[in-house]
Amino acid sequence: MQNPLKRKRPCCVAKCENRHSKRHRFPKNEPEIFKQWISNTQPVNHHELSQEQIYNKFYVCDNHFQQECFVPGTHRGLRRDAVPTLFIKATNPNRNSIDPIKLEAYKKY
Ligand SMILES: [Zn+2]
Repeated sequence: MQNPLKRKRPCCVAKCENRHSKRHRFPKNEPEIFKQWISNTQPVNHHELSQEQIYNKFYVCDNHFQQECFVPGTHRGLRRDAVPTLFIKATNPNRNSIDPIKLEAYKKY
């Protein structure tokens, strides 16, 4: 059983159930990268929030970054220009829907 007091802040990506991976804050010092994070993750009510509020409120978990985005040993653990691109519905409308024909093909293996 999980202790609710110890539960990590939720990842802001819609439908992401990850509760254990490391969280990353928005890169508020990198306006261009920041915008890409917003457009990729679409945090709730982000249109009404300032950059500072978004930085304080939202987190994106490890799941959404490609391997090359990680820089072990740094404070942030991410490249300065890392952008969340994985398992995100907003940028890839078809990624989360499994094509039934392909699913059939998969079963043969
Ligand atoms: Zn996530």
